[in-house]
Amino acid sequence: MQSRWWSCGIRLVTWTWVWSLALLGVWCIPANEVNLLDSRSVMGDLGWVAYPKNGWEEIGEVDENYAPIHTYQVCRVMEQNQNNWLHTNWILTEGAQRVFIELKFTLRDCNSLPGGVGTCKETFNMAMKESRYIKIDTIAADESFTELDLGDRVMKLNTEVRDLGPLTRKGFYLAFQDLGACIALVSVRVFYKRCPFLVKSLAEFPDTIPGSEASQLVEVVGRCVNNSLPLYEPPRMHCSTEGEWLVPIGKCVCQPGFEEINGSCQVCKVGFYRSLLESLACSKCPPHSVARQMGATACSCEDGYYKLDSDPSNMACTRPPSAPRNAISNVNETSVFLEWSIPMDTGGRKDVRYNVICRQVLPDGRGLEECGPNARFLPRRTGLSNTSVMVADLQSHTNYSFLLEAVNGVSDLAKGHAKQYVSLNVTTNQAAPSPVSVVRKGHTGKSSIALSWAEPDRPNGIILEYEIKYFEKEQDSSYTIIKSKDTEMVVEGLKPSSAYIFQVRARTSAGYGAFSRRFEFQTSPYLTATSERAQASIVAVAITLALVLLAVVAGFLLSGRRCGYSKAKQDPEEEKMHFHNGHIKFPGVRTYIDPLTYEDPNQAVHEFAQEIDVSYISIERIIGAGEFGEVCSGPLRLPGKREIQVAIKTLKAGYTEQQRRDFLWEASIMGQFNHPNIIRLEGVVTKSKPVMIITEYMENGSLDTFLKKNDGQFTVIQLVGMLRGIASGMRYLSDMGYVHRDLAARNILVNSNLVCKVSDFGLSRVLEDDPEAAYTTRGGKIPIRWTAPEAIAYRKFTSASDVWSYGIVMWEVMSYGERPYWEMSNQDVIKAVEESYRLPGPMDCPEALYHLMMDCWQRERSNRPKFDEIVCLLDKFIRNPSSLKKLVNSSHRVSNLLVEHASVEGNCSTRSQTVGEWLDSIKMGRYTELFMEGGYSSLETVAQMTSEDLRRVGVNLAGHQKKIITSIQEMRVHMNSTNSTVNI
Ligand code: AMP
Repeated sequence: MQSRWWSCGIRLVTWTWVWSLALLGVWCIPANEVNLLDSRSVMGDLGWVAYPKNGWEEIGEVDENYAPIHTYQVCRVMEQNQNNWLHTNWILTEGAQRVFIELKFTLRDCNSLPGGVGTCKETFNMAMKESRYIKIDTIAADESFTELDLGDRVMKLNTEVRDLGPLTRKGFYLAFQDLGACIALVSVRVFYKRCPFLVKSLAEFPDTIPGSEASQLVEVVGRCVNNSLPLYEPPRMHCSTEGEWLVPIGKCVCQPGFEEINGSCQVCKVGFYRSLLESLACSKCPPHSVARQMGATACSCEDGYYKLDSDPSNMACTRPPSAPRNAISNVNETSVFLEWSIPMDTGGRKDVRYNVICRQVLPDGRGLEECGPNARFLPRRTGLSNTSVMVADLQSHTNYSFLLEAVNGVSDLAKGHAKQYVSLNVTTNQAAPSPVSVVRKGHTGKSSIALSWAEPDRPNGIILEYEIKYFEKEQDSSYTIIKSKDTEMVVEGLKPSSAYIFQVRARTSAGYGAFSRRFEFQTSPYLTATSERAQASIVAVAITLALVLLAVVAGFLLSGRRCGYSKAKQDPEEEKMHFHNGHIKFPGVRTYIDPLTYEDPNQAVHEFAQEIDVSYISIERIIGAGEFGEVCSGPLRLPGKREIQVAIKTLKAGYTEQQRRDFLWEASIMGQFNHPNIIRLEGVVTKSKPVMIITEYMENGSLDTFLKKNDGQFTVIQLVGMLRGIASGMRYLSDMGYVHRDLAARNILVNSNLVCKVSDFGLSRVLEDDPEAAYTTRGGKIPIRWTAPEAIAYRKFTSASDVWSYGIVMWEVMSYGERPYWEMSNQDVIKAVEESYRLPGPMDCPEALYHLMMDCWQRERSNRPKFDEIVCLLDKFIRNPSSLKKLVNSSHRVSNLLVEHASVEGNCSTRSQTVGEWLDSIKMGRYTELFMEGGYSSLETVAQMTSEDLRRVGVNLAGHQKKIITSIQEMRVHMNSTNSTVNI
């Protein structure tokens, strides 16, 4: 065989085992290629057919492992018209539609041949045949070799790859056509590419043969592995002609109850669950739920716990909430503001809502009845998300029982769960009467007109009297007011032939209703001389009266109707004005009758207190110790009435007559009061022994102990609610003309609904009884820390001194029962107060409340607010809790130091005077509010004010303007001299 090569004198190619391994690299086939033919792997003859026979020639060699290598060579470059074919065997496609042909060959450089070889070619053709031969390509060498390369033993092997497709038959032939080149075909490999079996994202993709087109992608749908499911859509991949998996879409995830570990799905252990396809691993069951089996897809709730379908699976099982806590009520006429705290146990849910059940207590304890449709709930009755509600338009002077229930999302599921309520018993006050709608004219004389009217549609209580206001038409700058107890009266002293305007309004113990609209009536024309004189004098009296009245009304309005309070007012005692003969009486409430006015104290007791038969009372527990004996509690069952819990004060055996009298004294006082914030007297037992005083039972005992026990437990609004109750009770007492003298948190009782009621009534014994009371230099015992300086100094006990004590109670409440002035001695307290030192703001106390306390502690008692102003202000705070946001500056709270009284406004440490104080100092305090409303809230701005500015803010009286302007001028001088600071 070699003879022919050498006979040509041309060394075509030589390769030995030394080169073969390095250059051919035959055994490294990529995993995604499947060989259909590999000439190098055939052990025996390839059996390819050469035509003509003297063309291509098979040469056997061995590689470095002495494995045979088949090569086909042809090199008939010296001869003309060469056309040598080499046909392979039938190559099975194995289903591939596109195959690749990889040729490795060497090719002799024609230029390196001896000259004159005209037919030498440097290419050959490759063809294929399914049914007939088709040329695939002309193959040229990238590198051809020369004689020299042979000498240097350099192998210039070429590799060419061609792809072929689409193939349509099961197999095909390849053929190589030589047209006169010098070629050694070292190897021929025919292969197709496939995308190999793949597991990706828990989906199996089978071995896949690509499509026939070069850029075609074959979409393959994967199969989810065991215990897994497609997530959203079946997983898909795309097999490219290069045998690569491309463009993954979708994926599989372990089905619920299983989790993916190392590419397969493992079952969840006991106590674990997996519910969502999106979650990866099994999770521990959330609180109050269990999974008793392996492979749980959800955990089941423990007994008494529930889950909503909409609850996330990882949420703990929950239960209905407990009852709301700390419910309090504030009654304002016929409206009740209810407030409570969130339940101790919300059941583990955030969706706690509240429902209010309103029931009216029927008279004489006949039971309860649902509140009618007239009761308005603001914002609504059920599904309340806030912990408060306003119930308006209730009936006046009526007992109501409110049940507050907390519910949450699982309350409906918990059918067997007993609902828990907190109940509040409330007594409404009285609303003012509605306006009189029609006034009619009766007999009309020359100087008189008879009037009649109907009772208002909604009297809201017993009408005490009517007020008739009238004036001559077009003369409304002065008018006359007269009073009538009936719904008719004759108005006299009118001018003949004159038109008069009349308006009527009704008054109950709740105050005046609005005036009716105006009614115009005319007097008759004829008038005699004598009656004219008489009329004239009556008119003069009426006008005088009207002027007096006008002044009183103006004063009353200025002082009391607005919520704020000016500090230059009369003594509260002097304020109570009675114009009996002129038919005018302010403020028109029942007055307290001093039991001392009764010669026989027993008579006083039975005048004001009901005698109770002892058989109706059961003493169950001892709840405290009073001055005269034990205080017990138990049920009171009066015939025909609902059983109620009562407190029973007993008079210990062996008492003297004086002690008996003193003991019952309290009942004589208490029995005169009827107010939701005053402890209610049920009655007395005097006909049997022991003598007892029976009062309503207050579950939470005295306020000071209660606060200490619940330190820090209440919201500011709850505390303000308690204070409001106390102030309301005190307003009632001061309206009745009763001065308490011993107002302190220890003498306030608290019921289960946090309603505070004033208790401990008496006269001298009140103070004797009080352990806080100390003897003063003037004799008599006084609870120094709670008592106003004038009461300590010269026993001037008034409602204004009660206001001082109220300020101390405010301080006690806001500091949760702290002892006023801590451990300072009584003497030091008197001295400090005398030197204008006052208690500092309690920790976390809203500035507005501290401000109010400080006002209660004004040295000048007429400057202290009145109880109705305090109630009004506290109501304002309750309606607008944001006004309580600003707290007393804690850095200035020094718990064992007092603050100087001049520094009350806002920050307790500031020494600069405020606008209010400055106005007070010049007795113009009444304008404080107008100044604030006008934006003059600092002394700097005030210092710029002109007379015109004063008029604009509403200071209209020339005298007042002058006084204020003078002071402003002084202020300016002072500011200039102190370098423009406002410390004046
Ligand atoms: P007193 O003699 O009024 O100071 O009562 C002594 C103590 O008995 C008080 O401090 C209360 O703890 C308790 N107490 C008096 N009255 C009542 C009541 N109506 N309800 C509950 N506890 C009361």
